[in-house]
Amino acid sequence: AIGLSVVLTASACGSTEKASEGGDTGSAEGALVGVTMPTKVSERWVADGNNVKAALEKLGYKVDLQYAENDVPTQANQIDNQITQGAKLLIVASIDGKALTTQLENAKANNIPVISYDRLILGSPNVDYYTTFDNKKVGVQQATSLLVGLGIKKADGTDGTAKGPFNIELFAGSPDDNNATFFFNGAMETLQPYIDNGTLVVKSGQKDFNTVSTLRWDPATAQQRMENIITTTYTGNNKVDGVLSPYDGISIGIISALKSNGYGTGGQDWPIVTGQDAEVASVKSIIANEQYATIYKDTRQLADVTVKMADAVLKGQQPEVNNTTDYNNGTKVVPSYLLEPVIVYKDNYKQTLIDTGYYTEDALK
Ligand code: BGC
Repeated sequence: AIGLSVVLTASACGSTEKASEGGDTGSAEGALVGVTMPTKVSERWVADGNNVKAALEKLGYKVDLQYAENDVPTQANQIDNQITQGAKLLIVASIDGKALTTQLENAKANNIPVISYDRLILGSPNVDYYTTFDNKKVGVQQATSLLVGLGIKKADGTDGTAKGPFNIELFAGSPDDNNATFFFNGAMETLQPYIDNGTLVVKSGQKDFNTVSTLRWDPATAQQRMENIITTTYTGNNKVDGVLSPYDGISIGIISALKSNGYGTGGQDWPIVTGQDAEVASVKSIIANEQYATIYKDTRQLADVTVKMADAVLKGQQPEVNNTTDYNNGTKVVPSYLLEPVIVYKDNYKQTLIDTGYYTEDALK
């Protein structure tokens, strides 16, 4: 069984060089798995890291889990170190999707398979698999929640009664994160018809991904941009009615900017603000009528499918994937496993987040 796992692990990375090597180098049992996550600043990645580590350890693997506080060279070093330590597989949630080519070459040279976690690593042929949520759908859902909040659509997908025109502003995530483009494109595809027919007006005129993106998903950067938009565009009686926000941390920044510019929380003129990740502070904000909605991505499920995949790869088996078309990283289409995101509103947070055991009621008080 040991020899077999060596052969197939090697072939999983497209090489048979080490096929005849025996011994424990290729044994899945007790193997070290290197896990790198972007930052502890956002709660979701802390949960991701803990869940992946616990599930791997349960299967008997050793785990080196590292966070890089959004610093690209730090993450590259962590991956190099894991390779040096003898990791047999790498699970990577990248900071800059294009910055790990050298590390992945190094992994490949050592016959170490790589699973891209949540964010696709770009520009390298040495990414074996990808686990994530349906990122385009996340964007569609974010836009949908904005339309629902404004009354243009109903949560069941039918048309609402509101006709607008509504002033909206757009925010996107980090330009070095492949997901950010997927979210934004999914959202814009959904909003564009309403922009075209005048129901929605992007009053600042800032609509290009590059103009509306937020480097490293930084809440303070988003807050500053929202402040600038309010002071330059929303003068006199002009009010912003809705803000497309790609991530809960950014929503918090946007909400702070709105509050400090005289928008009354939960009041008549309070804008609809979207989000993503169902982080505790933002779910509380939804309950308090500040943020309107978020997108729940069950990080337990993502950890679960990733660890199953890792285990299969380490044992020389074929892991399960459910998408082999959508995620081209610039060098190849990476076989992927996509999970389903869910929109969370105030009126369904109990079913989506508490009944599923993701949070306890107390955690949201
Ligand atoms: C993730 C999102 C997250 C964002 C900021 C993205 O790559 O898919 O869930 O909100 O990064 O951390």
